[in-house]
Amino acid sequence: MPPLLIANARMIDALGGEPRDGQDILVDDGTIAAIAPTGSLTIAEGLSSLERIDARGLTVMPGLFDCHIHASTTPDQGALEGITEAESAKTLRAVPQLRATLMAGVTTARDLAGADSGFRDSLEAGVIPGPRLLIALRILSITGGHGDSRAVNGLALDSGPGAGAIADSPQEFVRITREAIREGADWIKIAATGGMGSPRSHPEGGGLSESEMRAVVDEAKRHGIAGVAAHAIGAAGIAAAVRAGVRSIEHGYLVDDETIEAMIERGTVLVPTLSTLTRAVSPTAAPWVVAKRRRTVERAGERISAALAAGVQVALGTDAGIVPHGDNLRELGLLVDHGLTPMQAILAGTANAARLNGLDDEVGTLEVGKRADLVATRVDPLGDIHSLATPHAMSLIVQAGDVITRPSETVTR
Ligand SMILES: [Zn+2]
Repeated sequence: MPPLLIANARMIDALGGEPRDGQDILVDDGTIAAIAPTGSLTIAEGLSSLERIDARGLTVMPGLFDCHIHASTTPDQGALEGITEAESAKTLRAVPQLRATLMAGVTTARDLAGADSGFRDSLEAGVIPGPRLLIALRILSITGGHGDSRAVNGLALDSGPGAGAIADSPQEFVRITREAIREGADWIKIAATGGMGSPRSHPEGGGLSESEMRAVVDEAKRHGIAGVAAHAIGAAGIAAAVRAGVRSIEHGYLVDDETIEAMIERGTVLVPTLSTLTRAVSPTAAPWVVAKRRRTVERAGERISAALAAGVQVALGTDAGIVPHGDNLRELGLLVDHGLTPMQAILAGTANAARLNGLDDEVGTLEVGKRADLVATRVDPLGDIHSLATPHAMSLIVQAGDVITRPSETVTR
């Protein structure tokens, strides 16, 4: 692909400063080769085949992250369909879901159960369009916990690569951690509490014991895994997961003040998945789902706002798969509704998310030498962040230097 000059842009580099107007960004060989005030770049000879995109009126930002998706899951799919359809149906349905995620401006995503290494490797090889993917494969759970979706008679209600793995002692958790690593996990996901979508677990209890969580964290560390992500809703489970040394708390809806302080002290990252918290309950949801959700949602908004106000590190994640794929950036507006500034929300989706995933040397900010994952929009992200959730909010999407979508020539501004 020829080098690309994005000219005359307003730029949010995600390094923490104010936006800068009138910037030129030169992309060459998949990376950001130069950034300079418009007109001041001396383009080397031999770059005659340069593609130039006029970005006047656009704000350029780093490509965004969604740190909590389920690429192969479709919202509101019934349990019966889930167990009776072929695995290939799930996989093929993920193709447009992953494309929609990329078209929303998400150039990197962390799949927290469902996608196996074939998804990640096919995306990396460019077989299908979508975000770069980091995978956890499955959720590690205790018997009867959030990852144990068997019916009372023992019939497994989930199958395929994303089915939960069950263990019941620190030694057994070491073994299933090794299994996930053997299958290519970048992250390990655990059920530190029960959940709302599992039939017999409770959001306020029913997770791994602290010693079981420590066993997983230690084993993951020994293998150089990016970290352990803990699905955690109730206060006691969140506290135990933080003490055990997990890297991120997923949901964290009922976090208490003491654990908020502990998270700040240890640098534990919160991925509050407000997109899922605030969604309407499906009319086909089981009565136990409705009851569990009602109890949690009542208190969750206030608790998440308390964590954000205290300054817990936040990374953007939605639980797409439970909510629709492609609406990922709705989360930015929800983070602002719960107390972040628009710039802090953008950092949650860029620099902070890259750091959480150990990719901050490569992506997450706009700097010379970084991989050219970037997006540009006509929306003013600082003035109207909720509008980034609308379809086609991104006029330009560039992934590793490859132009995925470019501003329409007919749009004048
Ligand atoms: Zn999830």
